[in-house]
Amino acid sequence: MIRIDVRRKAFGEEEVLRDIRFEMEIGETVAILGPSGVGKSTLLRLVAGIDTAFEGEITRPENIAMVFQEPVLLPWRSVIENLTLVHPQLGSQAALSALERTGIADRAGLFPGQLSLGQQRRLALARAFAGRPELLVLDEPYVSLDPAMAEDMLALTEALIAETAPAVILVTHSEAEARRLARSCLRLAGKPATIIEEFAAAPGRAS
Ligand code: ADP
Ligand code: MG
Repeated sequence: MIRIDVRRKAFGEEEVLRDIRFEMEIGETVAILGPSGVGKSTLLRLVAGIDTAFEGEITRPENIAMVFQEPVLLPWRSVIENLTLVHPQLGSQAALSALERTGIADRAGLFPGQLSLGQQRRLALARAFAGRPELLVLDEPYVSLDPAMAEDMLALTEALIAETAPAVILVTHSEAEARRLARSCLRLAGKPATIIEEFAAAPGRAS
C-alpha cells in the first residue's frame, strides 16, 4: 500500500501544497492533473523521496523509479551504459532487450546527445522499467513530442505497465492521457494547491 499524506509543502513563504491525501496499491495507476505551476512536480518529488522537506507522511515501497519532465541521462555514457550503470544487476543481454522493447536497440552504442528527444524519452522509460520498480513516478513524459510520437510513447507505457504492474503516478495536463492510463484521476488547483476533483477513469480502461 502506498499512502500519501502531504499536509503542507512550502518554499520559504510560498505555500505550494496543502492537504494532498490519497492511497493506492501496487499495480494501480493514478493520474494527477492540474495547470502549469500548480505543484505537480513538487508533489512527485515528495512522493519519490527526492525532497523530504514537508509536513506530512508518505509510505512508499523501496524500489522506486522516476521519469522526469526532461529526460535525465548520463551524457558521456553510451545508451546501453545508461541502463547498465544504473542497474548493475542487469546483464548486457537484458539491457539490450530492454532497449529492444522500447525500440532503440540500434542506438545502444551512441551517446544520449545523439538521440532525438523521442528516443531520449524512450531510453528514460526503458531505464525506469528495467529496475522493475514497485512504484513508478512519471512527470509529463509525453510533453513536447509531436502527436504521433506521443501516441507511440503512450502505447509503449501502457504495455510496459501491463507487463511490470507497478504502482504508477502519472502527472499530465492531458485529461485524455489520464483517462487512458489511470484508474483514478486527481485534479489539483489553487494556491496552495489542494485536490479539487477526484474522478474514476472511463470503464474498460482501468489499469
Ligand atoms: P508544476 O509541475 O505543476 O508545473 P511545480 O511543482 O514545478 O509545478 O511548481 C509549483 C510551484 O512551486 C511554482 O510556483 C514554483 O515556482 C515553485 N517551486 C518549485 N520548485 C521550487 C524550488 N526548488 N524552489 C522554490 N520554488 C519552487
Ligand atoms: Mg512540472
